[in-house]
Amino acid sequence: MTGLVSRRPSAASGTPDALDRSREQIDGENLALLKEQISYTYDRSPFYQRKLDDAGAEPQDITSLEDFARLPLTTKDELRASQRRVPPFGDYLAADIGDIVRIHSTSGTTGQPLWEALTVADVDVIEVSGATTLYTTGVRPDDIVLPALNYTLFMGGYTDSGCVERLGSKLVPLGSGASDVMLRVARSMALTGREMVMFSTPSYATYFADYVRSQGIEPAELGITKGLFGGEYGASDPAFRQKLAQDWNFRVIGDVSGASEVHPLCVGSCPDAEGLHYTTPGAILIELIDPDTREPIDIRAGVRGELVLTHLRRQAQPLLRYAVKDIVEILSDAGDRCVCGRTTFRFRYAGRSDDMLVIRGVNVFPDAIFRILLEARPHTSGEFQIVLQEGPPFEDAVPLTVELGEGQHESPELLAELARELRAQLTFTPRLSFVPYRTLPRFEKKAKRVFHAYRGEQPPK
Ligand SMILES: [Zn+2]
Repeated sequence: MTGLVSRRPSAASGTPDALDRSREQIDGENLALLKEQISYTYDRSPFYQRKLDDAGAEPQDITSLEDFARLPLTTKDELRASQRRVPPFGDYLAADIGDIVRIHSTSGTTGQPLWEALTVADVDVIEVSGATTLYTTGVRPDDIVLPALNYTLFMGGYTDSGCVERLGSKLVPLGSGASDVMLRVARSMALTGREMVMFSTPSYATYFADYVRSQGIEPAELGITKGLFGGEYGASDPAFRQKLAQDWNFRVIGDVSGASEVHPLCVGSCPDAEGLHYTTPGAILIELIDPDTREPIDIRAGVRGELVLTHLRRQAQPLLRYAVKDIVEILSDAGDRCVCGRTTFRFRYAGRSDDMLVIRGVNVFPDAIFRILLEARPHTSGEFQIVLQEGPPFEDAVPLTVELGEGQHESPELLAELARELRAQLTFTPRLSFVPYRTLPRFEKKAKRVFHAYRGEQPPK
């Protein structure tokens, strides 16, 4: 019996206490792990041995986080090149293939997919630290979690479910694209009297609400009291959160994020403050760089920069200074105590540097357009589409097709009002047009609203 008991996953790390430390303590613990990770990686990964040698850096030279910030960055293109050169896992594989217990792949929506390998220890670190992220958002061991996540190949859905179990919550492994099954599960599990958590993209929560209504049921009647969202922008947005809360009567809405090459659940929101906390010290190191100069920036409230992630305890494919192309705004100084008790910094996403459009010299993020259109509800539905017929530089007015809200009609006043808001908030002056409600696609998976037609991308019919 004791064997069984001791094998039960521990949720000990999923407590707020795990994060209740000073910046100095967190930095100190991260640095100690980082030194071990660098020397392990240098010894076992030909990719990083070459990279550090080229930079003239020896592992023992790295004695501080500042030293580390002088090492070269790693990009996704380099990993792709490495996997083409040494297929399938690349020469950044630092473990024996015999020690690998799971293989995932990135989606490849933006190019050649990457193979991702994990050892038992890697899975353990992801699940234990990911459980802390889930706890931060308000998921509790007593909850029943219904993940409408993609389990096919991708690291996110499968490992997120492992994190749910590690927290001690009750997992129903639904997967995506089965709204009829989701409805059946929710109705049955409501009979347990436990709190239920929907875990999906924000787009799916909207899509599923429509599905439930089409079955003659109000979403709030299902008794799903917590919404946990990831995979795309939306749940971070106050207006969108409010819409989800109203649709579903959610008591708690959490938002989680990560990068599958590094850790799918390395940041998460708390119920007490805006943005996402860094929830995975001891597993992941987060740095910030200037997106243009690539120079390090100190993490302080008010600054904007690109996230750079580093593994601290990865065996199979450790990454050092991996630039994930997420541009963020820091909301609190590292070390400042949040209302929730955590001392790790908070941030919000400004957008992906990949999605960023430079229009007449101004950075415009699709997510920011979405936010403004959500604020204009009920006049608009929030959905929009930009189809770029010609490539950059975008000097002319970009066409922005906006979907009207249910029962709404276009008017010169609405056009002028939206044009004013886009100009005032984003310095963005598009060529605006309207389409009726329900004309633009809804997204069961990740939303895509900007299409570069000049390079062959076409919106779904
Ligand atoms: Zn907090």
